Amino acid sequence: MTNPGRGANRSGTPGVSPGTTCSRPFPALPADCREWASGTRSCCLNRRVTDPADARDLPSSSPADFSFEIEQRLETAGDGEGAPLGRAGVIRTPHGDIETPAFIPVGTKATVKAMLPETVADLGGQAVLANAYHLFLQPGSDLIDEAGGLGTFMNWSGPTFTDSGGFQVMSLGVGFKKVISMEENAYQSDEVIAENKERLAHVDEDGVTFKSFLNGDRHRFTPEVSMQIQHQLGADIIFAFDECTTLLNTRRYQEDSVARTERWAVRCLDEHARQTEARPHRPYQALFGVVQGAQYEDLRRRAARGLAELTGDEARDQRFDGFGIGGALEKSQLGTIVGWVNEELPEDKPRHLLGISEPEDLFVAIAAGADTFDCVAPSRQARGGTMYSSSGRINAKAATQRRRFEPLDPECDCYTCANYTAAYLHHLFKAKEMLASTLATIHNERYIVRLVERIRASIVDGTFAELREETLGRLARR
Ligand SMILES: [Zn+2]
Repeated sequence: MTNPGRGANRSGTPGVSPGTTCSRPFPALPADCREWASGTRSCCLNRRVTDPADARDLPSSSPADFSFEIEQRLETAGDGEGAPLGRAGVIRTPHGDIETPAFIPVGTKATVKAMLPETVADLGGQAVLANAYHLFLQPGSDLIDEAGGLGTFMNWSGPTFTDSGGFQVMSLGVGFKKVISMEENAYQSDEVIAENKERLAHVDEDGVTFKSFLNGDRHRFTPEVSMQIQHQLGADIIFAFDECTTLLNTRRYQEDSVARTERWAVRCLDEHARQTEARPHRPYQALFGVVQGAQYEDLRRRAARGLAELTGDEARDQRFDGFGIGGALEKSQLGTIVGWVNEELPEDKPRHLLGISEPEDLFVAIAAGADTFDCVAPSRQARGGTMYSSSGRINAKAATQRRRFEPLDPECDCYTCANYTAAYLHHLFKAKEMLASTLATIHNERYIVRLVERIRASIVDGTFAELREETLGRLARR
């Protein structure tokens, strides 16, 4: 994605210009934006917060408002084996287009931490992914519904995603973070999700009961509840409620879990159809099924085939609009596993890979046919002072940065590198100033967004292999 406004804004203020109509051609204006633009209301990202009453009057929409087109395919497979799966395309949503492959910045609680939504757009972010579980607990999905939906609430007029909350429910359920780790581990046991009074969540056939991490209140998530919450949040792309297992679970548990996730998927399709029908005043929301199956080829392929063909029990016409690839992925197996899944999924629907952002992983996953990605790592690492660069990681707090009176990464085109030195960033971190997080996050998010933009361009012009070799070669030499 090239954001034509970004270059022009490099030296400008990355903030809001209240009340002005933006001339920046932010991803094709959505239908509702065109409505605003034709009236007196200013539009695009620099508009002021929308009156919720207006948002409720948006024209109704249909599944036809969501689509995916492939523009160009990779000519060779990423690893030199099998059929090529990578592609460049465009996802069209009611709130604008997403040129793929695309990295989607994460705004868990309806904010990309330390960033104005306007800044996220300026650095080329095409969409934002928020978390249904967090927003359900705070401020409440009903409140966001009342505000006019997630995008309106956070003043983001582009496309939005919400994940189903399944991952958070499970990660709290198992009670400790390391089991969600994607690292290989020889120890396998279902103890991590077996009966355990200490954990915050419990999985059964019908759904998940969990305790709020905020106040200990008990809540119940079922496929139906997850769909209702995600319809209230109103994101353009939402995910079916799935059970996210870990590499530590036994094969037997993985089998049971994949089967349960498919049963939940049918219920999600039915509830999605009911909600879509009951809320005709809202733009159409695309529902993605989530493929699980851990590291097992037969389970991954079976899960993908099953979800590709699935319809609701009652809503026989309702199918998934796209797919998420979730769960435990060993880093060394990433391309192989994503390849298994994408060989089974229909080619004409988009595929979102949950939770990756490392440069080498992006090349591998894109070559294996993934279209969009999200990950908290770029912003989380930025807030800790770990900065990405074209020649490898830089610790912004290191003594080597103290007198570096040049941009953190002289090859970077972000707002931070255009206007501030590594020495200044170092000072902000050492002084524990809030601005450190903002400037650092702008840089890391832009680094990943730009890398994926360049990968997309390389697919279109047939230079993917060269770009991969050059980029990863430089990182490896560090
Ligand atoms: Zn930069």
